[in-house]
Amino acid sequence: MDDHKQLFQRQMVAWPMAAGNYQALNSILSKDFILDGLRIRLQYNPARLVSSAANVSASAIQKRPCFLCAGNRPAEQECLKVPASADFELLVNPFPVFPTHYTIPAIQHQPQQIRGHIAEFLRFSHDMNDCVVFYNGPRCGASAPDHLHFQAGSKGLMPAETDFRTWKEARTTPLVRLDGGRISQLNGFLRAGWLLEGTNERTLARLVENVINVLAMTQATVDEEPMINLLSWMENEEWKMLLFPRKAHRPTCYFNTGNTRFLISPASVEMGGLMVAARLQDFERMTETDIRQIYADVSLSDDVVNACSTLLLTKPDMQPSL
Ligand SMILES: [Zn+2]
Repeated sequence: MDDHKQLFQRQMVAWPMAAGNYQALNSILSKDFILDGLRIRLQYNPARLVSSAANVSASAIQKRPCFLCAGNRPAEQECLKVPASADFELLVNPFPVFPTHYTIPAIQHQPQQIRGHIAEFLRFSHDMNDCVVFYNGPRCGASAPDHLHFQAGSKGLMPAETDFRTWKEARTTPLVRLDGGRISQLNGFLRAGWLLEGTNERTLARLVENVINVLAMTQATVDEEPMINLLSWMENEEWKMLLFPRKAHRPTCYFNTGNTRFLISPASVEMGGLMVAARLQDFERMTETDIRQIYADVSLSDDVVNACSTLLLTKPDMQPSL
């Protein structure tokens, strides 16, 4: 059995609180919506209330002890060193969305920023091929924006991954094809973004880096990482990655009051088609229109994404190898 699966089994024995939260997932409510032929799953998961409503403002972050630093973790939480990278370690996430759910923090406390770590991200995705590995940018759902980390969750739950074969052909426009990697732009996908596929880790890392660079050109502050969610999984020995650029951390409805408020804080999981509602009333009330609006509120507009795709094509290292 792979190392990460063994870690999970050990933690289910040694950590009753976490085990209880995984047990509770068995009785979770979920329902599917079909929007323009795309499946979106809504999950009611009260254990996520803490993270959906997390205060991730700079001052709040500064005041709390960092829960991803080794010294502040619960005594029961075991950490595993893994071959994928000497700079990261593997933890079981005690507040799961997935039947197996891991956090992959950098060993050193450092800001959430994926540049320079994309190859490691891909390696985790390769080595944990029963999972989707994902990255939430600092203002795109990361509950620890001050400590670099990825997450990994069991395959089979996020429609973008499970329904990949059914949507891929009709909803992607090929952009760049290199040796070992290619990018297509998503279209008619409810949220704008890119699909990156390939077999070569270095090519893919370069493609991701280039997309991030062109996104950075569209924003005012160049030194800040563009807002993104990134997902990756293996299919037939090939990486499949979805990169969703964001324009907002939270949708308008998050700030409404009364009946029109939805406590939904989209991150990679939501961009992957699995909406997590931490409150029962949100789960019960949510309509197709709400889902469309949530995606529209947090996603970068089609126009900006089109402009980025055009910019990407002008990059010298994005020309096909002859
Ligand atoms: Zn830390």
